[in-house]
Amino acid sequence: MNIESRLAQIGSISEPVTGAVSFPIYQSTAFRHPRLGQSTGFDYARTKSPTRSVLEQAIADLESGDAGFASSSGMASLQTIFALFSQGDHLLVSLDLYGGTYRLLEKVMSRFGVTASYVDTNDLDGLESKRQSNTKAVLIETPTNPLMMITDIAKVCTWAKHHNLITIVDNTLLTPFFQRPLELGADIVIHSATKYLGGHNDVLAGLIVSKGKELSEQIAFLHNTMGAVLGPQDSWLMMRGMKTLALRMERHQHNATRMAAFLDAHPMVEQVYYPGLESHPNYEVQQRQSSGNTGILSFKMKDARTIEPILRSIRLIAFAESLGGVESLMTYPAVQTHADIPEEIRRQIGVDDRLLRFSVGIEHIDDIIADLSNAFEIASNELN
Ligand SMILES: *Cc1c(COP(=O)(O)O)cnc(C)c1O
Repeated sequence: MNIESRLAQIGSISEPVTGAVSFPIYQSTAFRHPRLGQSTGFDYARTKSPTRSVLEQAIADLESGDAGFASSSGMASLQTIFALFSQGDHLLVSLDLYGGTYRLLEKVMSRFGVTASYVDTNDLDGLESKRQSNTKAVLIETPTNPLMMITDIAKVCTWAKHHNLITIVDNTLLTPFFQRPLELGADIVIHSATKYLGGHNDVLAGLIVSKGKELSEQIAFLHNTMGAVLGPQDSWLMMRGMKTLALRMERHQHNATRMAAFLDAHPMVEQVYYPGLESHPNYEVQQRQSSGNTGILSFKMKDARTIEPILRSIRLIAFAESLGGVESLMTYPAVQTHADIPEEIRRQIGVDDRLLRFSVGIEHIDDIIADLSNAFEIASNELN
Protein backbone atom coordinates (compact mmCIF):
# COMPACT_ATOMS: atom_id res chain seq x y z
CA MET A 1 0.00 0.00 0.00
CA ASN A 2 1.19 3.55 -0.64
CA ILE A 3 2.63 5.49 2.27
CA GLU A 4 -0.19 8.08 2.25
CA SER A 5 -2.73 5.30 2.86
CA ARG A 6 -0.65 3.63 5.56
CA LEU A 7 -0.26 6.96 7.35
CA ALA A 8 -3.96 7.82 7.26
CA GLN A 9 -4.86 4.34 8.54
CA ILE A 10 -2.47 4.19 11.53
CA GLY A 11 -4.30 2.31 14.30
CA SER A 12 -7.59 2.28 12.39
CA ILE A 13 -7.96 -1.47 11.97
CA SER A 14 -6.30 -2.62 15.16
CA GLU A 15 -9.08 -2.65 17.77
CA PRO A 16 -11.27 -5.72 17.32
CA VAL A 17 -13.63 -5.45 20.33
CA THR A 18 -15.61 -2.28 19.54
CA GLY A 19 -14.36 -1.54 16.02
CA ALA A 20 -13.19 1.90 17.16
CA VAL A 21 -11.72 3.67 14.13
CA SER A 22 -9.41 5.71 16.34
CA PHE A 23 -7.27 3.34 18.39
CA PRO A 24 -8.07 3.66 22.14
CA ILE A 25 -5.76 5.02 24.81
CA TYR A 26 -5.01 2.07 27.10
CA GLN A 27 -4.26 3.87 30.33
CA SER A 28 -3.05 0.81 32.24
CA THR A 29 0.37 -0.12 33.58
CA ALA A 30 -0.56 -3.65 34.69
CA PHE A 31 -2.15 -6.45 32.66
CA ARG A 32 -3.95 -9.47 34.10
CA HIS A 33 -2.34 -12.85 33.40
CA PRO A 34 -4.92 -15.44 32.26
CA ARG A 35 -3.11 -18.33 34.00
CA LEU A 36 0.24 -19.13 35.55
CA GLY A 37 2.81 -18.99 32.76
CA GLN A 38 0.40 -17.23 30.37
CA SER A 39 0.34 -13.65 29.12
CA THR A 40 -1.86 -11.58 26.81
CA GLY A 41 1.38 -10.28 25.33
CA PHE A 42 1.26 -7.37 27.76
CA ASP A 43 2.66 -7.69 31.30
CA TYR A 44 3.88 -4.30 32.48
CA ALA A 45 3.65 -1.05 30.53
CA ARG A 46 7.35 -0.13 30.58
CA THR A 47 8.10 -3.29 28.60
CA LYS A 48 5.10 -3.13 26.27
CA SER A 49 1.90 -1.10 26.26
CA PRO A 50 -1.00 -1.44 23.75
CA THR A 51 -1.33 2.15 22.45
CA ARG A 52 2.44 2.57 22.28
CA SER A 53 2.75 -0.78 20.43
CA VAL A 54 0.50 0.41 17.60
CA LEU A 55 2.65 3.52 17.19
CA GLU A 56 5.85 1.44 17.31
CA GLN A 57 4.58 -0.96 14.64
CA ALA A 58 3.51 1.98 12.49
CA ILE A 59 6.89 3.71 12.52
CA ALA A 60 8.72 0.39 11.93
CA ASP A 61 6.53 -0.19 8.88
CA LEU A 62 6.89 3.39 7.56
CA GLU A 63 10.70 3.27 7.82
CA SER A 64 10.92 -0.29 6.37
CA GLY A 65 12.48 -1.55 9.61
CA ASP A 66 12.04 -4.61 11.81
CA ALA A 67 11.20 -2.99 15.16
CA GLY A 68 10.07 0.39 16.46
CA PHE A 69 10.49 1.96 19.91
CA ALA A 70 8.73 5.05 21.24
CA SER A 71 10.61 7.19 23.77
CA SER A 72 9.69 10.15 25.94
CA SER A 73 11.74 12.50 23.71
CA GLY A 74 14.19 12.49 20.83
CA MET A 75 17.01 12.82 23.37
CA ALA A 76 15.70 9.76 25.24
CA SER A 77 15.83 7.82 21.94
CA LEU A 78 19.43 8.93 21.40
CA GLN A 79 20.37 8.05 24.97
CA THR A 80 18.88 4.56 24.52
CA ILE A 81 20.87 4.09 21.31
CA PHE A 82 24.11 5.40 22.85
CA ALA A 83 23.71 2.76 25.58
CA LEU A 84 24.54 0.19 22.88
CA PHE A 85 28.14 1.36 23.31
CA SER A 86 30.60 0.63 26.09
CA GLN A 87 33.54 2.28 27.77
CA GLY A 88 36.34 2.69 25.24
CA ASP A 89 34.07 2.85 22.19
CA HIS A 90 34.33 5.67 19.66
CA LEU A 91 31.72 7.20 17.33
CA LEU A 92 31.99 9.23 14.12
CA VAL A 93 29.38 11.97 14.12
CA SER A 94 28.14 14.65 11.68
CA LEU A 95 29.94 17.93 12.29
CA ASP A 96 26.87 20.16 11.97
CA LEU A 97 24.98 18.38 14.73
CA TYR A 98 21.81 19.03 16.74
CA GLY A 99 23.08 20.88 19.86
CA GLY A 100 21.40 18.50 22.32
CA THR A 101 23.05 15.46 20.73
CA TYR A 102 26.44 17.17 20.96
CA ARG A 103 25.76 17.98 24.63
CA LEU A 104 24.73 14.38 25.42
CA LEU A 105 27.91 13.03 23.80
CA GLU A 106 30.32 15.59 25.26
CA LYS A 107 28.88 16.17 28.73
CA VAL A 108 27.44 12.74 29.56
CA MET A 109 28.63 9.90 27.31
CA SER A 110 32.25 11.10 27.59
CA ARG A 111 32.06 10.50 31.38
CA PHE A 112 31.24 6.86 30.60
CA GLY A 113 34.24 6.56 28.29
CA VAL A 114 32.35 6.77 24.98
CA THR A 115 34.07 9.34 22.75
CA ALA A 116 33.10 11.01 19.48
CA SER A 117 34.84 12.74 16.57
CA TYR A 118 32.93 15.31 14.52
CA VAL A 119 33.39 15.11 10.76
CA ASP A 120 31.74 16.09 7.51
CA THR A 121 30.02 12.71 7.00
CA ASN A 122 29.77 13.29 3.26
CA ASP A 123 33.57 13.19 3.00
CA LEU A 124 34.70 9.53 2.96
CA ASP A 125 38.38 10.50 3.19
CA GLY A 126 37.59 12.62 6.23
CA LEU A 127 35.65 9.75 7.80
CA GLU A 128 38.48 7.33 7.09
CA SER A 129 41.09 9.67 8.60
CA LYS A 130 39.09 9.95 11.84
CA ARG A 131 38.28 6.23 12.08
CA GLN A 132 39.98 4.49 15.01
CA SER A 133 40.45 0.81 15.90
CA ASN A 134 37.73 1.28 18.56
CA THR A 135 35.24 3.08 16.27
CA LYS A 136 31.85 1.32 16.47
CA ALA A 137 29.34 3.51 14.63
CA VAL A 138 28.62 6.50 12.40
CA LEU A 139 25.86 8.91 13.36
CA ILE A 140 24.51 10.96 10.46
CA GLU A 141 22.12 13.87 10.34
CA THR A 142 20.99 14.62 6.78
CA PRO A 143 20.00 17.30 6.07
CA THR A 144 21.84 18.81 9.02
CA ASN A 145 20.32 21.46 11.18
CA PRO A 146 20.80 24.39 10.71
CA LEU A 147 23.18 24.35 7.72
CA MET A 148 21.31 21.83 5.57
CA MET A 149 24.39 19.82 4.67
CA ILE A 150 23.58 16.57 2.85
CA THR A 151 25.26 13.20 3.35
CA ASP A 152 25.09 10.44 0.75
CA ILE A 153 23.56 7.78 3.03
CA ALA A 154 24.13 4.75 0.76
CA LYS A 155 27.78 5.69 0.21
CA VAL A 156 28.50 6.00 3.93
CA CYS A 157 26.61 2.78 4.74
CA THR A 158 28.71 0.82 2.23
CA TRP A 159 31.90 2.21 3.74
CA ALA A 160 30.65 1.59 7.30
CA LYS A 161 29.67 -2.03 6.58
CA HIS A 162 33.12 -2.64 5.13
CA HIS A 163 34.61 -1.57 8.49
CA ASN A 164 31.99 -3.35 10.59
CA LEU A 165 30.47 -0.12 11.90
CA ILE A 166 26.76 0.42 12.41
CA THR A 167 25.14 3.43 10.76
CA ILE A 168 22.62 5.51 12.68
CA VAL A 169 20.63 8.19 10.84
CA ASP A 170 18.71 11.01 12.52
CA ASN A 171 15.82 11.31 10.03
CA THR A 172 13.95 14.08 11.90
CA LEU A 173 14.08 16.68 9.12
CA LEU A 174 12.71 14.55 6.28
CA THR A 175 10.58 11.81 7.94
CA PRO A 176 9.90 8.47 6.21
CA PHE A 177 7.52 10.28 3.87
CA PHE A 178 10.51 11.79 2.04
CA GLN A 179 13.50 9.63 3.04
CA ARG A 180 13.96 6.05 4.30
CA PRO A 181 17.58 5.50 5.40
CA LEU A 182 17.10 1.79 6.27
CA GLU A 183 16.31 1.14 2.57
CA LEU A 184 19.67 2.79 1.77
CA GLY A 185 21.61 0.48 4.09
CA ALA A 186 21.42 2.14 7.53
CA ASP A 187 20.96 0.00 10.68
CA ILE A 188 19.10 2.42 12.95
CA VAL A 189 16.90 5.46 12.34
CA ILE A 190 16.04 7.86 15.12
CA HIS A 191 13.52 10.70 15.18
CA SER A 192 12.72 13.62 17.30
CA ALA A 193 9.03 12.85 16.71
CA THR A 194 8.37 16.13 18.52
CA LYS A 195 8.99 17.75 15.14
CA TYR A 196 7.33 16.68 11.84
CA LEU A 197 5.91 13.32 12.92
CA GLY A 198 3.87 14.87 15.74
CA GLY A 199 3.67 18.02 13.69
CA HIS A 200 1.62 20.32 15.91
CA ASN A 201 4.13 21.68 18.44
CA ASP A 202 2.20 19.92 21.23
CA VAL A 203 3.82 16.59 22.05
CA LEU A 204 7.38 15.64 22.96
CA ALA A 205 8.46 12.20 21.73
CA GLY A 206 11.26 10.18 20.17
CA LEU A 207 11.14 7.17 17.87
CA ILE A 208 13.74 4.53 17.05
CA VAL A 209 13.55 2.02 14.20
CA SER A 210 16.04 -0.82 13.81
CA LYS A 211 16.90 -3.35 11.16
CA GLY A 212 17.97 -6.90 12.02
CA LYS A 213 16.94 -9.33 14.75
CA GLU A 214 19.98 -9.07 17.01
CA LEU A 215 20.14 -5.26 17.02
CA SER A 216 16.36 -5.01 17.53
CA GLU A 217 16.56 -7.36 20.54
CA GLN A 218 19.43 -5.34 22.02
CA ILE A 219 17.45 -2.11 21.66
CA ALA A 220 14.28 -3.70 23.09
CA PHE A 221 16.34 -4.73 26.12
CA LEU A 222 17.77 -1.20 26.57
CA HIS A 223 14.42 0.52 25.96
CA ASN A 224 12.82 -1.55 28.73
CA THR A 225 15.85 -1.40 31.03
CA MET A 226 16.48 2.34 30.79
CA GLY A 227 12.76 3.10 30.87
CA ALA A 228 12.45 6.42 29.00
CA VAL A 229 9.30 5.17 27.24
CA LEU A 230 6.38 7.15 25.79
CA GLY A 231 3.09 7.15 27.74
CA PRO A 232 -0.26 6.08 26.22
CA GLN A 233 -1.71 9.61 25.89
CA ASP A 234 1.34 10.94 24.06
CA SER A 235 1.50 7.78 21.91
CA TRP A 236 -2.08 8.48 20.84
CA LEU A 237 -1.33 12.16 20.10
CA MET A 238 1.63 11.07 18.01
CA MET A 239 -0.53 8.73 15.89
CA ARG A 240 -3.15 11.45 15.56
CA GLY A 241 -0.48 13.78 14.20
CA MET A 242 1.09 11.21 11.88
CA LYS A 243 -2.17 10.49 10.05
CA THR A 244 -1.79 13.81 8.21
CA LEU A 245 2.00 13.63 7.70
CA ALA A 246 1.78 13.26 3.91
CA LEU A 247 -0.41 16.37 3.47
CA ARG A 248 1.67 18.40 5.86
CA MET A 249 5.05 17.45 4.34
CA GLU A 250 3.83 18.30 0.85
CA ARG A 251 2.67 21.73 2.03
CA HIS A 252 5.84 22.31 4.09
CA GLN A 253 7.92 21.50 1.01
CA HIS A 254 5.85 23.76 -1.21
CA ASN A 255 6.05 26.68 1.21
CA ALA A 256 9.78 26.25 1.95
CA THR A 257 10.56 26.13 -1.78
CA ARG A 258 8.69 29.42 -2.33
CA MET A 259 10.36 30.95 0.75
CA ALA A 260 13.84 29.85 -0.39
CA ALA A 261 13.26 31.55 -3.76
CA PHE A 262 12.05 34.74 -2.05
CA LEU A 263 15.09 34.86 0.26
CA ASP A 264 17.52 33.93 -2.53
CA ALA A 265 16.39 36.99 -4.50
CA HIS A 266 16.35 39.41 -1.53
CA PRO A 267 19.11 42.06 -1.44
CA MET A 268 19.46 41.96 2.38
CA VAL A 269 20.18 38.20 2.38
CA GLU A 270 23.70 36.93 1.78
CA GLN A 271 23.06 33.20 1.50
CA VAL A 272 20.20 30.69 1.64
CA TYR A 273 20.76 27.13 2.84
CA TYR A 274 18.11 24.86 1.34
CA PRO A 275 18.67 21.47 -0.34
CA GLY A 276 15.77 22.14 -2.70
CA LEU A 277 17.70 24.95 -4.42
CA GLU A 278 19.57 23.79 -7.51
CA SER A 279 22.52 25.87 -6.32
CA HIS A 280 22.86 23.66 -3.21
CA PRO A 281 26.24 21.82 -3.39
CA ASN A 282 24.60 18.41 -2.81
CA TYR A 283 21.38 19.00 -4.75
CA GLU A 284 21.95 15.92 -6.91
CA VAL A 285 22.54 13.54 -3.94
CA GLN A 286 19.48 14.94 -2.18
CA GLN A 287 17.29 14.40 -5.26
CA ARG A 288 18.54 10.83 -5.60
CA GLN A 289 18.10 9.63 -2.02
CA SER A 290 14.94 11.49 -1.03
CA SER A 291 11.58 11.97 -2.69
CA GLY A 292 11.15 15.53 -1.43
CA ASN A 293 12.55 18.40 0.60
CA THR A 294 12.12 19.48 4.19
CA GLY A 295 10.27 22.61 5.32
CA ILE A 296 13.34 23.84 7.19
CA LEU A 297 15.77 26.32 5.70
CA SER A 298 18.38 28.71 7.04
CA PHE A 299 19.58 32.02 5.74
CA LYS A 300 22.40 34.41 6.48
CA MET A 301 21.72 38.13 6.59
CA LYS A 302 24.35 40.50 5.18
CA ASP A 303 24.27 42.66 8.32
CA ALA A 304 24.12 41.21 11.88
CA ARG A 305 22.36 44.38 13.07
CA THR A 306 19.21 43.38 11.17
CA ILE A 307 18.69 40.23 13.30
CA GLU A 308 17.25 41.95 16.39
CA PRO A 309 14.66 44.09 14.55
CA ILE A 310 13.61 41.12 12.37
CA LEU A 311 12.99 38.88 15.40
CA ARG A 312 11.15 41.76 17.10
CA SER A 313 8.98 42.54 14.06
CA ILE A 314 7.75 39.15 12.84
CA ARG A 315 4.11 38.59 13.86
CA LEU A 316 2.65 35.54 12.09
CA ILE A 317 6.04 33.81 12.30
CA ALA A 318 6.84 33.06 15.95
CA PHE A 319 10.32 33.64 17.35
CA ALA A 320 10.62 30.27 19.07
CA GLU A 321 12.81 27.19 19.28
CA SER A 322 11.82 23.89 17.70
CA LEU A 323 10.76 23.03 14.16
CA GLY A 324 8.48 20.83 12.11
CA GLY A 325 5.09 22.00 13.36
CA VAL A 326 2.21 23.46 11.38
CA GLU A 327 3.05 26.94 12.72
CA SER A 328 5.99 28.89 11.24
CA LEU A 329 8.82 29.29 13.76
CA MET A 330 12.08 31.18 13.49
CA THR A 331 15.16 30.45 15.60
CA TYR A 332 18.50 32.17 16.16
CA PRO A 333 20.81 29.11 16.38
CA ALA A 334 23.96 30.86 17.65
CA VAL A 335 22.25 31.85 20.92
CA GLN A 336 19.50 29.19 21.12
CA THR A 337 19.64 25.63 19.76
CA HIS A 338 23.39 25.62 19.15
CA ALA A 339 24.60 27.56 22.20
CA ASP A 340 26.14 24.39 23.67
CA ILE A 341 28.39 23.89 20.66
CA PRO A 342 31.75 25.63 21.20
CA GLU A 343 32.17 28.87 19.26
CA GLU A 344 35.19 27.44 17.45
CA ILE A 345 33.16 24.56 15.94
CA ARG A 346 30.20 26.86 15.24
CA ARG A 347 32.46 29.28 13.36
CA GLN A 348 34.12 26.41 11.46
CA ILE A 349 30.76 25.23 10.10
CA GLY A 350 29.25 28.69 9.68
CA VAL A 351 26.68 28.99 12.48
CA ASP A 352 27.36 32.65 13.21
CA ASP A 353 25.49 35.70 14.47
CA ARG A 354 23.95 36.44 11.05
CA LEU A 355 22.27 33.06 10.62
CA LEU A 356 18.55 32.47 11.15
CA ARG A 357 16.78 29.12 10.93
CA PHE A 358 13.26 29.06 9.62
CA SER A 359 10.77 26.22 10.08
CA VAL A 360 8.26 27.17 7.40
CA GLY A 361 4.74 26.23 8.52
CA ILE A 362 1.64 25.30 6.56
CA GLU A 363 -0.01 28.75 6.62
CA HIS A 364 -0.64 30.40 3.23
CA ILE A 365 2.80 31.16 1.79
CA ASP A 366 1.75 34.67 0.72
CA ASP A 367 1.00 35.52 4.36
CA ILE A 368 4.32 34.12 5.56
CA ILE A 369 6.27 36.05 2.91
CA ALA A 370 4.32 39.24 3.69
CA ASP A 371 5.19 38.91 7.38
CA LEU A 372 8.91 38.43 6.73
CA SER A 373 8.97 41.19 4.08
CA ASN A 374 7.50 43.59 6.58
CA ALA A 375 10.10 42.63 9.21
CA PHE A 376 12.92 43.07 6.65
CA GLU A 377 11.60 46.52 5.78
CA ILE A 378 11.51 47.59 9.44
CA ALA A 379 15.08 46.28 9.92
CA SER A 380 16.26 48.09 6.80
CA ASN A 381 14.67 51.38 7.87
CA GLU A 382 16.34 51.18 11.27
CA LEU A 383 19.77 50.71 9.68
CA ASN A 384 19.44 53.89 7.61
C1 LIG B 1 14.86 18.30 18.28
C2 LIG B 1 15.87 17.37 17.75
C3 LIG B 1 16.41 16.34 18.55
C4 LIG B 1 16.00 16.16 20.00
O1 LIG B 1 14.68 15.75 20.15
P1 LIG B 1 13.72 16.15 21.39
O2 LIG B 1 12.42 15.56 21.00
O3 LIG B 1 13.73 17.64 21.51
O4 LIG B 1 14.32 15.50 22.61
C5 LIG B 1 17.31 15.46 17.96
N1 LIG B 1 17.69 15.61 16.67
C6 LIG B 1 17.20 16.59 15.88
C7 LIG B 1 17.65 16.70 14.47
C8 LIG B 1 16.27 17.50 16.39
O5 LIG B 1 15.81 18.49 15.61
